[in-house]
Amino acid sequence: MTIKKEEGRESARIEHCPSCNSVLTKNNIYFCRGETPRVYVECAECGIFVARYALISYTSDKSYESLLRKMRFTRANSGKRTMKMIEGFETSVKKEFEHVLELVKTDEDKRHVEDIIAEDYSNEED
Ligand SMILES: [Zn+2]
Repeated sequence: MTIKKEEGRESARIEHCPSCNSVLTKNNIYFCRGETPRVYVECAECGIFVARYALISYTSDKSYESLLRKMRFTRANSGKRTMKMIEGFETSVKKEFEHVLELVKTDEDKRHVEDIIAEDYSNEED
């Protein structure tokens, strides 16, 4: 992700509840061994299902070094796969976060998430 806004290539939007239009949501994260973790987004206002995300990787608010230290204490053999899934917090992540917030604030994409995916990602290579 680039920090400068690329016209026509990127957009951002806050998830809205399809029922009450609230932007307040709860992320319920489901873990089952052998399956990709999934996030079930629930409306914090009315409790309805908003969306489900597959969790490919997780970026923590903790630095990579502190994560390594933490995992050494809790598990003797934290595998390579685990460390590939968990990303440490870096300055670039903070910049991306601020960039997305700025996009939402100044030029929020008004389309539904499904429409953004259908319209902007239909020509992407698999
Ligand atoms: Zn709602």
